[in-house]
Amino acid sequence: MGAGWIGLETAAAARQYGCEVTVIEPQPTPLQAALGPGAGASVIGGFFAQVHRQHGVDVQLGTAVTEFRGTGHVTAVITDDGNTIPADVVIVGVGARPNTDLAAQAGLPVGNGVLVDAALRTDDPDIYAAGDVANAINPLYRPRIRVEHWANALHGGTAAARSMLGQPVTYDRAPYFFTDQYDVGMEFAGWFPRGGYDALVTRGDLAARAFYAFWITDGRAVAGMHVNQRDEGIAPVQDLIHSGVPVDRYRLSDPAVPLADIIKS
Ligand SMILES: Cc1cc2nc3c(=O)[nH]c(=O)nc-3n(C[C@H](O)[C@H](O)[C@H](O)COP(=O)(O)OP(=O)(O)OC[C@H]3O[C@@H](n4cnc5c(N)ncnc54)[C@H](O)[C@@H]3O)c2cc1C
Repeated sequence: MGAGWIGLETAAAARQYGCEVTVIEPQPTPLQAALGPGAGASVIGGFFAQVHRQHGVDVQLGTAVTEFRGTGHVTAVITDDGNTIPADVVIVGVGARPNTDLAAQAGLPVGNGVLVDAALRTDDPDIYAAGDVANAINPLYRPRIRVEHWANALHGGTAAARSMLGQPVTYDRAPYFFTDQYDVGMEFAGWFPRGGYDALVTRGDLAARAFYAFWITDGRAVAGMHVNQRDEGIAPVQDLIHSGVPVDRYRLSDPAVPLADIIKS
């Protein structure tokens, strides 16, 4: 249930253990929450749907789970288009909600997480928040962002600790994570609002599973990813995001133009 990162990673793992796998997702493409609407969904989400189908996963899009059947343990899943899909195991990967009850009871401002400033401080000078639960002002992106990735918990935790010790802290990292599914090694950095971005630029060969993709807002790269670009990796994407330089979409899409040259321009 769910074609987000959790659903797709577990689908890939289960397939590689020889299981028959069905992925059921109500959106028209996988990964809409992560990759945005528009081309991010259709091009990159479509890429992941194809990768899974080529590995024998039954990817059912535009369909929601309405019911589990079984006594003692699940035997089938029912979908809103009336299908019955036999199942021994169901994995539900439909997103997470921050538990802000304790913070709210303590009188702290909450809203999609515990609200903190760029030094990860709440309104109370003795209370900080980091990791999944922190909805922090990120100066790189301006609005608050809440990040559910391991790297953010790692770096945010140490940043909050430095802040508690009175050191000047501005937590402005671009969010980062990676995923490995079959022969696809992907790293992603950056952020854009749920509502969208202006354009998606791809660079390289999607069919060969070797490419970069960039999400562009106001002429600048705000997020980017690569698939199987192990030599260069994600570092040039992070550099490009942090540089804030305006990008020429045609040069960015041309693998002959080094990413380092685009950052310099
Ligand atoms: C199935 C799954 C797969 C994931 N895969 C990836 C991945 O591949 N890559 C990646 O980057 N990220 C991944 N993530 C996200 C990553 O695990 C989280 O971003 C990270 O664990 C967040 O760390 P955290 O310390 O903020 O929160 P958590 O790891 O959730 O830790 C919070 C802890 O606080 C405890 N707690 C809650 N309330 C209280 C309380 N009142 N008092 C004391 N303790 C309390 C909880 O029990 C918990 O142990 C995955 C998450 C899930 C669920």
